[in-house]
Amino acid sequence: MIEACLTFDVDAESPVLAEGARHARNLGVMSHQAYGPLVGVPRILDLLREYHLPATFFVPGFTADRYPQTVEAILAAGHEVGHHSYAHRSPLAQSEEEERADFARALETLRRLGAEVEGFRCPSWEPGWRTPQIVAEHGLLYDSSLMDADRPYLLDTGAGEIVELPVHWALDDWEQYAYLPDPPFRSPIESPAKVLDLWTSELDAMRRYDCLFVLTCHPFLSGRPHRVEVLRRLIEHALAAGDVAFRRCRDVARRARADADTERRALAPVAVDPAVYPERP
Ligand SMILES: [Zn+2]
Repeated sequence: MIEACLTFDVDAESPVLAEGARHARNLGVMSHQAYGPLVGVPRILDLLREYHLPATFFVPGFTADRYPQTVEAILAAGHEVGHHSYAHRSPLAQSEEEERADFARALETLRRLGAEVEGFRCPSWEPGWRTPQIVAEHGLLYDSSLMDADRPYLLDTGAGEIVELPVHWALDDWEQYAYLPDPPFRSPIESPAKVLDLWTSELDAMRRYDCLFVLTCHPFLSGRPHRVEVLRRLIEHALAAGDVAFRRCRDVARRARADADTERRALAPVAVDPAVYPERP
């Protein structure tokens, strides 16, 4: 039996605004992003209800402030709400002070709406080496942003231990569907058959190799009708296999922490000799 997490990053307008405040004036692109909370999330909640499946929604604080009813609907349906920064800016583009302030603001925003936040997913999967420490310092249980494994592991951050629930670009709908002319998000708009084949192939291989299957979808992308049908067929494929347990991320993280056999790792920052790797602009 393997564990599978259906995760939804409710980015809405935030990743576009992180590319520049000027995009707020573009009603067209704002409407494209608003589709997530307005249409995608309700449709995905219906799908999950139909199959009695739990899921995890990572919500930026900016989304939560703009669409508090979306967070309330997710919580009312029994799903987990996780931390996905406030402004959806990459930690690499922020000073430590800025990153810490953004992190604390998001946590406060989600808690005000009633979310018991236990996990973090870094925007754009671009954490800095200090990011896991910030997660640990705030007492969160887990992170889901790294790609150096495909099973849960315990990560010693130097400021406390957290569980890592690894992800991968191959199980992210952004690379399949995220097309915008400006900002230039230039993923192709793939056919549902191709995406279904990609994701079921990975699921079946992960069943063989006893991995954790973490699917990352964005409601503004995967909430569209033919893409919800990809999710439906993936779910039906997994349920028919009979050895896939759908769980919220927090439940996988708790089980991993309680399991004496879970691998332990420590952060090992990459030190660079400028004589070998000079800085390039
Ligand atoms: Zn995101």
